[in-house]
Amino acid sequence: MKVKIPREINIGTYKYIVKLDSNLPDFGLLGQCQTDDGIIKLSPEQNINVRNVSLLHEVTHAIKDVFRFDADDDTVDRIAHGMAEFLFNNLEIEFDWSLIQGGENGICNHRKAQ
Ligand SMILES: [Zn+2]
Repeated sequence: MKVKIPREINIGTYKYIVKLDSNLPDFGLLGQCQTDDGIIKLSPEQNINVRNVSLLHEVTHAIKDVFRFDADDDTVDRIAHGMAEFLFNNLEIEFDWSLIQGGENGICNHRKAQ
C-alpha cells in the first residue's frame, strides 16, 4: 500500500513542513528536524530506502521534542529503524514522495552551485 507523505506533518499542536533540501549544513547530513521553525529537511541525495528511514528518524526527533523525552541520536535512529521494519517489512507500506517539493519521484532540482 502506498502512503503519500504529506507536505505538512502535525505532531501534537506543532506543524512541520517536509522539504527536500540539498543544502543541509553538514556534508553527509541526511536530514534535519528544526522544531523551532517547524521544518523537517531531507537530503534528496540519498536513495529512496534511506530517505524513508531518514524521514522516520526526523519525525522521531519531532516526537521527542514535542512530547519531551530524552533520547540520544543513536536511540532516535534505533526507533526509526524499528518503525521502518514494522511499516515497510511487515505492513508492506511504501512511502509516496510525490507531494513533497522536488516532484513526482522526490528528485529535487535544486542543486548546490559548483
Ligand atoms: Zn538525528
